[in-house]
Amino acid sequence: MGLTRAREGSGVKKLPEGSKIIALAGNPNVGKSTIFNALTGLSRHTGNWTGKTVDIALGSMRAKRGRYAVADLPGCYRLEAASPEEEAAGEFIRSGRAVCTIVVCDASCLERCLNLVLSVLEITGDAVVCVNLADEAAKRGVSVDTRRLSELLGVPVVATDASKKKGLSELAEAAARIAEEGGGRPLEGCADTAERWAKAERIAGEAVSLDRDAYSAKQLKLDRLLTGKLTGRLFMLLLLALVFFITMVGANYPSELLSRAFSSLLGLIRARLAGLGAPPAVVSAVCDGALSTLMTVVAVMLPPMAIFFPLFTFLEDLGFLPRIAFDLDRSFCRCGACGKQALTSCMGFGCNAAGVTGCRIIESPRERMTAILTNSLIPCNGRFPTLAALITAFFACGSGLVSGALSALIMTALILLSLSASLAASKLLSVTLLRGGSSSFVMELPPFRRPRIGQLIVRSVLDRTLFVLGRAAVCAFPAGLIIWALTNTPGGQTALAGVISFLEPAGRLMGLDGTILAAFILGLPANELIMPLMLLIYGGAAGSLGAALTACGWTARTAFLVMLLMLFHSPCATTLLTIKKETHSALWTLAAFLIPSALGVLLCIAVNGAWQLLASLR
Ligand code: GDP
Repeated sequence: MGLTRAREGSGVKKLPEGSKIIALAGNPNVGKSTIFNALTGLSRHTGNWTGKTVDIALGSMRAKRGRYAVADLPGCYRLEAASPEEEAAGEFIRSGRAVCTIVVCDASCLERCLNLVLSVLEITGDAVVCVNLADEAAKRGVSVDTRRLSELLGVPVVATDASKKKGLSELAEAAARIAEEGGGRPLEGCADTAERWAKAERIAGEAVSLDRDAYSAKQLKLDRLLTGKLTGRLFMLLLLALVFFITMVGANYPSELLSRAFSSLLGLIRARLAGLGAPPAVVSAVCDGALSTLMTVVAVMLPPMAIFFPLFTFLEDLGFLPRIAFDLDRSFCRCGACGKQALTSCMGFGCNAAGVTGCRIIESPRERMTAILTNSLIPCNGRFPTLAALITAFFACGSGLVSGALSALIMTALILLSLSASLAASKLLSVTLLRGGSSSFVMELPPFRRPRIGQLIVRSVLDRTLFVLGRAAVCAFPAGLIIWALTNTPGGQTALAGVISFLEPAGRLMGLDGTILAAFILGLPANELIMPLMLLIYGGAAGSLGAALTACGWTARTAFLVMLLMLFHSPCATTLLTIKKETHSALWTLAAFLIPSALGVLLCIAVNGAWQLLASLR
């Protein structure tokens, strides 16, 4: 990968010529990104699971001796290039670009981390060892003698608790000292890996002391429950339903409130624009087109996202995601896919483009491609609020706890349907285009960690909710204007009517109509636009969502079929571009477009046919 393909962290537009680079290396999930963020002031994704850091991020930090660029390398266990992350990290360290390499270790399992430390020290002596998660180790009765460790390794060793920013200025100073003055010579290379492991064991034996049992009985019991054959899946389902319940009950009222507030605001803006003498067409284009689309996007998306993301981040920080991957591993393997696909699917829940990039954690190219092609079968946050709104409008009306529970049940069923579709598509791919069996993998189950609520809220609100909302809003404004122009100018009306009537027969076959299909096509830039665009084309956004759609001829059947199509249709434009970037192939990108689209169309036709048949029998 190297620096040329490195992703620059936000805030660092260009690395100045001749910048001195301090590299951050370490096993996955040892707190590398937390340290990177604290040193550079950036906000790289952190979370309690292995495999989130798959590319190189750049930032810059200021120490007493000057300014340095910081490169966060992908988490890896060794530098022998068995996976893309190991290759990228190894290549970077061997290139000699870094004036100092900080190797981050987990104090609770130092022996395992020392293997990577030794590998790095065999390449360069310009290094500092950071013993992170010192607080967690202390709780487990593990203590590391950093002075002894430093003597044994011949490089500075600094203990840190990155989550509380303890020891980080000492770490920065130690790294800057090595960067300016240079370190010792590299260690003599070990002949084979067994020799290196033996050396790591010897060093850990001298530097680490253990007061009591390292893993608490409570954690073990909880792990048995969460990863048990039956209990694991049951618990996962219950938790999913609970998350949806809290999200949907909590989102109903604020959504309504926002809608009302926005419609009053729109009235005020309209009056103000008219008062300023703006031509009626401009007032209508701004208010009925751009702003109304934007406001619908915000009112529908913001409340569920503001509740769902913190809950999801809470589970992520707790260490729940790898346990889900463990529980689903067998199902994915049976379908010729890799268990890590469960993790990339979880990422897809947030954003399919992120899920597709996350597929880099899957080593086998065949399994990685399967995970990429099936990722968008999992509904992202652009689709999730629309699904929630349709469920509430047509199947679980009211705002009480009972309708909340019903909504959560329906949503859980939809998610299970999308998971089943993802498994079925993986199986189909494994016996057709991507033939082969599934490979085995080792996945670390991290300890349960108490999430830091303050940081969690900031991260989920700023990094996820506002980021996604901002992206949607950027698309919503121009899309609203374009659709307004299409629905309000004679030329536009003719063109749009032409498209809708062209799509009408296909729409009818699927139990929908031409307008719905046109909105799905026009919503390609971002899924969250589909519903507002549909309302704009129908020209009937007044009243509640249910009332507006019923007035346009919708029934429960239409809503159900739209929900199916919302689950299974083309990935959005950003995801398609990401797939093209990751696969370097227009053909695979086309396959990623066709698989969910064909599934959605066929499912709608089949369900619509069955529904009509049942209705005719009654
Ligand atoms: P990476 O995979 O190495 O980049 O690890 P992250 O920076 O994402 O951290 C993994 C998890 O450990 C996250 O939940 C962090 O909040 C948590 N974490 C990181 N450093 C510390 C620390 O020193 N103490 C504690 N208790 N948690 C930490």
